[in-house]
Amino acid sequence: MSSLIGAIDQGTSSSRFLVFDLRDESVIAEHQIPIRSVYPQEGWVEQDPMELLDTVKQCLNQVHGQLHQSGRSLDLKAVGVTNQRESTVVWDKTTGRPIHNAIIWLDTRTQSTVNALMKCAGSKGKDSLRDKCGLPISTYFSAVKLRWLLDNIPEVSEAAQAKRLLFGTVDSWLIWNLTGGVNGGRHVTDVTNASRTMLMNLKTLQWDQELLDFFGVQLDVLPRICSSAEIYGHLNFSGSDWPDVPIAGCLGDQQAALVGHQSFNAGTAKSTLGTGCFMLFNVGEKIVTSSHGLLSTVGYQLGPDEAPVYALEGSIAIAGAAVKWLQDQLGIIKEPREIELVASKVEDTSGVYFVPAFSGLFAPHWRSDAKGVITGLTQFSNASHICRAVLEAIAFQTRDIVDCMYQDSGLTLNKLLVDGAMTKNNLLMQIHSDILNIEVVRPEMPEFTALGAAFAAGKAVGLWEPGRISGNAQKLFRPVKSPAWRTEKLNYWHKSLEKSLNEEP
Ligand code: ADP
Repeated sequence: MSSLIGAIDQGTSSSRFLVFDLRDESVIAEHQIPIRSVYPQEGWVEQDPMELLDTVKQCLNQVHGQLHQSGRSLDLKAVGVTNQRESTVVWDKTTGRPIHNAIIWLDTRTQSTVNALMKCAGSKGKDSLRDKCGLPISTYFSAVKLRWLLDNIPEVSEAAQAKRLLFGTVDSWLIWNLTGGVNGGRHVTDVTNASRTMLMNLKTLQWDQELLDFFGVQLDVLPRICSSAEIYGHLNFSGSDWPDVPIAGCLGDQQAALVGHQSFNAGTAKSTLGTGCFMLFNVGEKIVTSSHGLLSTVGYQLGPDEAPVYALEGSIAIAGAAVKWLQDQLGIIKEPREIELVASKVEDTSGVYFVPAFSGLFAPHWRSDAKGVITGLTQFSNASHICRAVLEAIAFQTRDIVDCMYQDSGLTLNKLLVDGAMTKNNLLMQIHSDILNIEVVRPEMPEFTALGAAFAAGKAVGLWEPGRISGNAQKLFRPVKSPAWRTEKLNYWHKSLEKSLNEEP
């Protein structure tokens, strides 16, 4: 019996398709294509939905070719989808064409929409909807982006009035197209993606009429909410080399990584370090509402009859993106991995602190007006100090989030599981361990986001069960710095953070 499961991983910087053999979690075939972002104005970030779709199709067919050569193309039992979250796509269900570019999660154009919505919010201001959807009113979430599209793009509001409009996060857009598009495509999403829109009630796991009314969104534009592990439809698109393979798993990328790490017990957490950095803390089957600026979100629901498991999330908008900034805007490194070499040339940052608030600050501050700052510069400061300060900034922000998680949940971590492209950076991992004062565990197989989507699809077709022991090798990073070192560093970090939050434009 074959145990091959595929995972479509549509991320912010690339589309990928990987095939895992779930017997040993090895990757047996993969293909990846980079994705372009466009920046039409300051703070705006868009991607072409057709490019997202076409690159996914190309990856699917490329991998089909690889498996065909090894005689295994008939062995694929199911496909899971994992995706960049919150990014918002609107399309016309009669033509199948997108009506606008996808507004990407990082985009802050919706500040005016947030300001308008805040006027209608209750006495708790940006936290007025938290009890229902677990999220603060912020530029980040999909309902705010959809409201902006309805208010600012006449074709979108016209399509809504004519009942031609469909809305989706990237998972919905892909699944609708890959299961037939205008010819009967399934308009679905899963509970984890829906929990990032601000429109889903965290308790009922259904669209909530009060939230829909608040944002002025019609129910008929929204996808049907499903669990994260069930058959949504079968691959059926023109030019497909994969007829009739079920799409059977769907999770937002961060939740997929939680599942990939098998972080199934309350009190376990993972941090994924890519363009942004996202920490998810499993809090079990009861929702924990944060009073410290974290997000309450669905961690996973591995089947329609399974109980949902919730998580607290700390989202950091800029992590690897700050490394790219050093490369693209300052030119002090030529490629991201060079940051480790440059930062390792110095023992410490010599008092330099960097707050990379390029899209404002997400958790726990939720301040889109925060600005990036570098503090503590002297004549002596050089590129190595700045590079090291960028790496430290990611760990400081993670530390602040972990402290909030402890306070909200009453649980404490004994280790942090990590994944994502940035975790290849050993110096960054050691800095994390020292600043968090915790053991950091980096599995040697780095594909946790895709693996989580494959697990979910495997569960739906009976090829995988949660709790199966993973044989993955791991590398551990243990804290070596003193408590006094930590206290002093955190103190200076918080002073720099204050400057970022109070910076005048
Ligand atoms: P995505 O968020 O699209 O899933 P990835 O997980 O591929 O992204 O992460 C890409 C980010 O990781 C880039 O922003 C890049 O700057 C950063 N990065 C990649 N390798 C390293 C490295 N060795 N050290 C530090 N940052 C890195």
